[in-house]
Amino acid sequence: MSAAAAPLRPGTRAIASAVIAAVVLAPACARAHVGPPREKGTFRAPDLVEIALIDPTIKLDIRYATARNFVGRPVYAEARAFLQRPAAEALVRAHRALQEKGYGLLVFDAYRPWSVTKLFWDVTPRSKRDFVANPKKGSKHNRGCAVDLSLYDVRSGDEAEMPSAYDEMSPRASPDYAGGTAEQRARRDLLRAAMEGRGFTVEPHEWWHFNCREWREYPILDIPFSAIR
Ligand SMILES: [Zn+2]
Repeated sequence: MSAAAAPLRPGTRAIASAVIAAVVLAPACARAHVGPPREKGTFRAPDLVEIALIDPTIKLDIRYATARNFVGRPVYAEARAFLQRPAAEALVRAHRALQEKGYGLLVFDAYRPWSVTKLFWDVTPRSKRDFVANPKKGSKHNRGCAVDLSLYDVRSGDEAEMPSAYDEMSPRASPDYAGGTAEQRARRDLLRAAMEGRGFTVEPHEWWHFNCREWREYPILDIPFSAIR
């Protein structure tokens, strides 16, 4: 049944007028560019790979598909993680090296559509914007070339304790923070060494965020997970 076939209630009529007004005003708004930044140059063709498919022993805890994130509500419809193929393959190599030391990788986030980066910027207070990417420039996550992750203990399966929580917007999140316990710092440094040894670099304010070397070669994307082959 089509909703349009139902008779309009008085309230619906007001909404319908508002929609028509918005449509009429749209051409004026269209002049301002509101989508992902337009970048010049040539880029590699995106080749996003689903991490769970190339190594199911890499654990996922996709916080942005839950309410356990700094936004306080899910911003992803699906708990999935993708990276460009060279980054995904390097991630598997880091994971296998860590398994020899009793740990595995626990991924919180990887490729992130640009519209989600825009949402993060809009909901973050100015004083905390060092922790989020400016949507005018986009994020390395938007290119499928950044991953947020921690370690899990292979024997217990539990998330390893680090000097700060994931997405904690505080000085404890720095990869060089000297506080916390010696064990927490040792695990953070073990994760960093495993990732840096496979071509990733750590983000200055976030021990959990790693960028792949080739990030400049991939375009900013705004494709939902459901549309990735
Ligand atoms: Zn990140």
